[in-house]
Amino acid sequence: MRTDWLVVGAGFTGAVLAERIANQLGQNVLVVERRDHIAGNAFDHYDEHGVLVHKYGPHIFHTNSEKVWRYLSRFTEWRPYYHRVRAWIEGQLVPVPFNLTALRTLFPRRSAERIEDALVESFGHGARVPILRLKESNCPELVELAQYVYRYVYEGYTTKQWGLRPEELSPSVTGRVPVAVSVDDRYFTDTYQAMPLRGYTAMFRRMLAHPKIKIMLQTDYRDIAREVQWERMIYTGPIDEFFSYEDGHLPYRSLSFEMRHFGDSPHQPVAQVNYPSEYAFTRISEFKHMTGQNGSGTTVAIEYPERHEPGRNEPYYPIPRDEYRELYNGYLAKSRKLGGKVLFAGRLGEYKYLNMDQAVGAALSLFEKEIVR
Ligand code: FAD
Ligand code: UDP
Repeated sequence: MRTDWLVVGAGFTGAVLAERIANQLGQNVLVVERRDHIAGNAFDHYDEHGVLVHKYGPHIFHTNSEKVWRYLSRFTEWRPYYHRVRAWIEGQLVPVPFNLTALRTLFPRRSAERIEDALVESFGHGARVPILRLKESNCPELVELAQYVYRYVYEGYTTKQWGLRPEELSPSVTGRVPVAVSVDDRYFTDTYQAMPLRGYTAMFRRMLAHPKIKIMLQTDYRDIAREVQWERMIYTGPIDEFFSYEDGHLPYRSLSFEMRHFGDSPHQPVAQVNYPSEYAFTRISEFKHMTGQNGSGTTVAIEYPERHEPGRNEPYYPIPRDEYRELYNGYLAKSRKLGGKVLFAGRLGEYKYLNMDQAVGAALSLFEKEIVR
């Protein structure tokens, strides 16, 4: 068998590149995927109760990129959706990002007013302030708030999620969920926030429906790379695995998901409830809030973070820390020696904590810069 391109992985990165190459260049693409489905970690399907669920945890689409939004809109219609999250803190269900409503709920009225005034004076109404920045403040009211929020929102959750304390990770990690100086309780502030109307997998089916694209599921590329003649490869699997871990393993954080079905819905007031302090799990997500699906019965996913062990569980999260970036840079240098014959991309190929829109944006740029010449 012969193909112009071998694309390893049918997640966002692989699917966008396969689509672009087939549609724009008219070249043949063989997509190999070791799971038994397309869509990578964004895969969704109807469970045995008829509820549309995300197999690998809740996936909410949000972006500020008009280019990414327009590109994906060719393959799906959208359901407008603003993600809202609550956390159990000291017996109360309050908004996350921690906002002025959470402050007023959890602090005595006088203290809350003092802290709110200090927040507005220091950062301005509407600001979103990373916790590690708030912790550096000298103002007594803000010190009090920072200590409280650090302890009740970030410390326990982060230690469970990563096995590391917030300071041991790149500040960009906790910076994803800043403290909000407003009553806005949306989890994201992006211009475009929506869910694919018929789900992610349906969107991927349309992206990959092209006569020049062939897909082989349940196939590891190493099992076919010698039998198939290919000109160039796009590899979206773990970069350390590609090089047989020659320089050591890049660490990942993994998760296990417990799916539970309930006859009565809704199970919880919003799509996601976080449990920063209690229990071994971090969050419970109820899919019907995101998908807008009607009917009785509801399914939730309970997330338990765990160590990644190659072959036993999935490498979900690259761990953003300088020392691991150095290890990655060694692999990157090796990849450059392949002279452009193999391109590495995606969350695993670049060892980067990418959201879906960032994966799509990076794939579109790669196509424009490295593939169309
Ligand atoms: P992947 O989706 O991981 O695809 C890579 C594919 O390559 C996989 O299917 C894998 O099986 C395959 N593969 C690997 N090695 C081989 C091999 N040797 N042979 C064949 N196939 C191989 N992003 C958001 O924007 N919003 C969210 O709400 C959100 N929630 C998330 C929740 C969780 C729990 C996780 C883990 C991620 C979340 N993300 C979210 C991030 C999102 O999943 C990624 O941005 C996206 O999946 C990246 O796409 P990718 O193609 O780079 O990687
Ligand atoms: N985080 C936290 N408490 C929360 C929510 C988030 O400490 O209630 C921290 C935690 O370190 C988490 C990070 O912020 O890993 C990013 O959160 P996000 O919801 O973006 O994580 P993801 O959806 O990517 O798992």
